[in-house]
Amino acid sequence: HVKGRGKDGYQFFTESMSVNTTHRLGMERDLRRALQAGELRVFYQPQICLRTGLCRGLEALVRWQHPTRGLLQPGEFLPLAEETRLIGDLSEWVLATACREMGSWLKNTEEDIRLSVNFSPMQVEHPRFVDLLLQRLEHYDLPPERLEIEITENMIISDLEQISLKLDQLSSYGIRIAIDDFGTGYSSLNYLHRLPIHTLKVDQSFVRSIRHGEEGACIVNAITAMARGLQLDIVAEGVETRDQLAYLRELGCDSVQGHYFSEARPRDELALSDASPEPVYYNVI
Ligand code: C2E
Ligand code: MG
Ligand code: MG
Ligand code: MG
Repeated sequence: HVKGRGKDGYQFFTESMSVNTTHRLGMERDLRRALQAGELRVFYQPQICLRTGLCRGLEALVRWQHPTRGLLQPGEFLPLAEETRLIGDLSEWVLATACREMGSWLKNTEEDIRLSVNFSPMQVEHPRFVDLLLQRLEHYDLPPERLEIEITENMIISDLEQISLKLDQLSSYGIRIAIDDFGTGYSSLNYLHRLPIHTLKVDQSFVRSIRHGEEGACIVNAITAMARGLQLDIVAEGVETRDQLAYLRELGCDSVQGHYFSEARPRDELALSDASPEPVYYNVI
């Protein structure tokens, strides 16, 4: 930022910094208020199994229905929440809401669908993380085997011993563990056989750069091959085109998630087979 602004750079920086600080304080207050006022929403995006064409999971993604700014995406407020520890309350709210909105449906449906929830480092680092999570599930009557938690590689390297204990416990209750944005973190691959990981989510940056013969395709290819060897489930994120879908299929990718099939939607706009006994099939070519 500062670089390239010539000798006035420093002055500009301090000025814009104080503007930013004011802006941030305002935003922080606004977000805290929003949480109380019920302006946050949980949307759900289906993950589709390419073998069956059925939904294998629904990922909970937070949104902010702002009174004046409209519907805000997490990129517009999560970074701030993460800096201010608001992320703890926010993530707890998302988990509770997702369990409440989906719990009884998931418990009663015959379809093999899981709820995927993104976890922040702060939640996982909490000393009573496992306890609290199990309590939540019980409270909302969501069977543990219906939950998949999404964590990132960076969360694992910060404290491998602690996280390994926690994940082993979760796994023993039937909760599944997914590595989100796989391939973009700074960790080694060592943890993959030391931890009870069930799913790798291929980051959308790789999916986006898929064209035959390009680097993205090589990487997706390698990840898929490795996942198969380790018997891990693969979900490719950010699938937008028929070509991407076809290529991922060819590589033997298990499931996909992306705008090609559906964006994240509110609970009551999901095509769930509540009324009819027939599950919803997606056209996977
Ligand atoms: P993520 O967990 O990797 O989620 C996938 C993101 O990709 C979502 O963005 C989703 O809307 C978007 N996406 C899905 N398909 C497509 C597609 O075909 N094209 C494009 N361009 N994007 C697609 P979203 O909802 O904006 O969330 C961004 C990130 O914010 C998430 O990435 C996750 O890291 C974080 N996040 C969202 N909700 C929560 C939450 O409740 N708690 C925590 N801790 N993090 C959350
Ligand atoms: Mg995710
Ligand atoms: Mg991701
Ligand atoms: Mg992401």
